[in-house]
Amino acid sequence: MTANTTEPTARLIEVFSAIQGEGLNVGTRQIFIRFALCDLRCNFCDSSHTWNAPTTCKVERSPGSREFEIHSNPVPLTILLDWIKRQNLPLLHDSISLTGGEPLLHAPFLDEFLPQVRSLTGLPIYLETGGHRPEQLAMILPYLDSVGMDWKLPSVSGETYWQEHTKFLQLCHNNPSLDVFVKIIISQNTNPDELQKTALLIADINPKVPVFLQPVTPLPASEQFTAKPLLAPNPDQVLMWQALMKKFVPHVRVVPQTHKMLNQL
Ligand code: SF4
Repeated sequence: MTANTTEPTARLIEVFSAIQGEGLNVGTRQIFIRFALCDLRCNFCDSSHTWNAPTTCKVERSPGSREFEIHSNPVPLTILLDWIKRQNLPLLHDSISLTGGEPLLHAPFLDEFLPQVRSLTGLPIYLETGGHRPEQLAMILPYLDSVGMDWKLPSVSGETYWQEHTKFLQLCHNNPSLDVFVKIIISQNTNPDELQKTALLIADINPKVPVFLQPVTPLPASEQFTAKPLLAPNPDQVLMWQALMKKFVPHVRVVPQTHKMLNQL
């Protein structure tokens, strides 16, 4: 297929089919579209290869085969639709996951792509995001079915976005047809005051929002970029912090990254 010159394009890392390992959709089968670029630099990032846009991206030949074709970036919208069509075997996938990097850095592209991919596949659309770009979220909110937003604790991530996270969650809450959950990465360094502040801010918007406390998966030595490696919280810390948050928001689950246990991508 030949792209015309005005066709929207996006810079991608990869397209593949796998089992979702985090949050509300854990265990379901998804077509993942991993977008390039991120404007954050979280201490625990396990996707630092997404921070800059590569000249090429990878596309799985058939869902779950783990054999990849290499294509050049950026990718025209119609080409990406073709790749999704190829992944979308009957009765296989539960939804499409927009992940990254930060997918919302591609909001103008998504604004055009999402209605088309929905009418092509009929699959629900799930957004995984740092939860810090409410203006971009507003552009594509009507096309989303569920959102997993990170709430970055300064003591763990090194990033501080209290106002943006609050505005972001409020926007999700204002859209009654959308399922939203909050994911918080915790480590031995977690400051409990930050957990309490987060719980209060969430409760102020909607105490029924599910919260996932996700113990950090320590990075392999070759991928570490902090002076001291982040360590997973110990069992007492996890119990204490869940109890602390549950005083304000009842649905607090502790779930590690299950896709790493299953050797998914
Ligand atoms: S938002 Fe996600 S991709 Fe970006 S630095 Fe943080 S963990 Fe990495």
